[in-house]
Formats: sequence, structure tokens, C-alpha cells
Amino acid sequence: MLEGKTAIVTGSTSGIGLGIARAFAAQGAHVMLNGLGQADEIEFTRGALQREFGVRVAFHGADMSRPDEIRGLAAQAEAAFGRVDIVVNNAGIQHVAPVEAFPQAKWDAILAINLTAAFVLTQAVVPGMKARRFGRLLNVASAHGLTASPFKSAYVAAKHGLVGFTRCVAVELAEFGITANTLCPGYVKTPLVDRQIADQARAHGISPEAVVRDVMLAHQARKAFVRVEELAALAVFLASDAAASMTATAIPMDGGWTQH
Ligand code: NAD
Repeated sequence: MLEGKTAIVTGSTSGIGLGIARAFAAQGAHVMLNGLGQADEIEFTRGALQREFGVRVAFHGADMSRPDEIRGLAAQAEAAFGRVDIVVNNAGIQHVAPVEAFPQAKWDAILAINLTAAFVLTQAVVPGMKARRFGRLLNVASAHGLTASPFKSAYVAAKHGLVGFTRCVAVELAEFGITANTLCPGYVKTPLVDRQIADQARAHGISPEAVVRDVMLAHQARKAFVRVEELAALAVFLASDAAASMTATAIPMDGGWTQH
């Protein structure tokens, strides 16, 4: 479905981003990976994807809190692949604390990585997409881009911001063959959620099992975590020619949580 297309997926050394990068490669796209992690593990993943799917897979370690490095990532992808057709702004972090105790440094980091990075990368790739009259911007927000839970003030603010930013660029760029959509997953069992289970247990003063049952999946009517592969399949569809008319949407995949 994506033969010969080129994609940047931020935060693709783990979890949802890695799942999306893998699904893109499986569909024939060349992929620029990004994210934090051990250099040898990242190189292993890069090489394995390239060999398994016969596409070009590159890596750039831009820190998504640093605009200059984000612009460097875009430039390197254009240099490596000749153009950037698809961008998935997926890198994200979380911090859970009551608002009155929320550290300002965590607030700043969450806003920078979960929201501002998407603006900076979008700004860097849009001129090329406009010139070629094709582009797919996919931003990974969250059910928390559509609704709120306690103790996540920065994350909920950033993800609501990402939904709004995406809608804005969607209407701004629609006439240039560029679409922009937000994916709004419910809870997906990734390293980010594993860390949250521990944090939430502390914040609520309950056991990790109770966090999963009574906090995370309390509103997720299906009572099961969303699977990375389900989200990756949605990303492939949104990146494909079949989704040319889908733009400015915020699509929940949350087991019936937000009911948007
Ligand atoms: P994860 O922790 O498994 O992966 C996060 C990725 O972002 C990693 O590759 C990490 O290296 C990268 N990253 C973090 N900080 C970075 C930085 N400063 N610079 C570059 N890369 C950085 O998390 P995940 O669950 O796969 O989350 C991916 C996205 O999905 C996030 O935006 C998250 O908010 C969102 N999301 C996750 C869930 C869930 O339940 N897991 C639900 C809704 C939305």
C-alpha cells in the first residue's frame, strides 16, 4: 500500500512508533527511525527491518525537545530518501502527579516533546510536501487528546493541543494534497504504560493490578489494552492513497472509552 513512499516516524525505537515503522516497512515504505535507546539495539532493529522487508531503513537520534536536532532529522531524511512523504509525530513522554505538585520542568518537557516537536517537524517538511502536492501528517495524540483523567495535566494539555494543531494544519494544507490526522489511542501496553502503572499506583495509593483494572481500563469498555498492531494498521491506512479525503480528523481507537 505504501510502495516507494518515504516516512519519518519519531519515537520509533519502542512501542507504538516501532510498530508503525514496522508496518510501513512491511508495506514497502522507506523509513527514518528516531528515538532514544542503546545504539547497538537500535542498529539491530534498523538492520532487521531493512533485511526483512527489503526497504531502506535509516536512523537519526534527534532529541525531540531540541528544535535544531528535529530540523536536522528532517534534513537527513530528505538527503537519504530524496523526499519525505509521510511524517508520524509519535514521540511522547508522560508524568503523573497532582497539579499542585507537578514539577515545572516536567510540564516544559512534556509540552516540548509531545506538542512543540510536532510543530517543528511539520514546519520542516511542509515546503517539500507542498511542492510535490503530496503529504501525510499523522500525529499520535491519545484518548487524552479528547478527554481528561486526573494527575495528567501536562499530558492532557499537550495532547489536546496536538489535536488542535493537527486540525489547523489540515485545513491550511488541504488544497495541496496534504492530509493531517490525529490518532487517539486508549491504553496500549508499551514501556510508557508500564512506567505509568507504577507511577499511578504511587499517586493513587493502590496496587499495580488495581491501576490496570480500576484506573486504566475503567472507561475502556472493551476491558482490554489496544494492540500496537491495530494502531499501526490505522496508520498505514491514513498514510495510503485510499485516505486522500480523510483529513482534520481525530480518530479514537480506545475500546469505547471516549465515544467521540
Ligand atoms: P514508549 O515509551 O514505548 O515509546 C516512546 C518513544 O518516544 C520511544 O521511542 C522513545 O525513545 C521516544 N522518545 C521519548 N522521548 C524522546 C525524545 N526526547 N526525543 C526523541 N525520542 C523520544 O511509548 P508509547 O506508548 O509507544 O508512546 C508513543 C506515543 O503514543 C506517545 O506520544 C504516547 O503519548 C502515545 N500514546 C500512548 C498510549 C499508550 O497507552 N501506550 C496511549 C495513547 C497515546
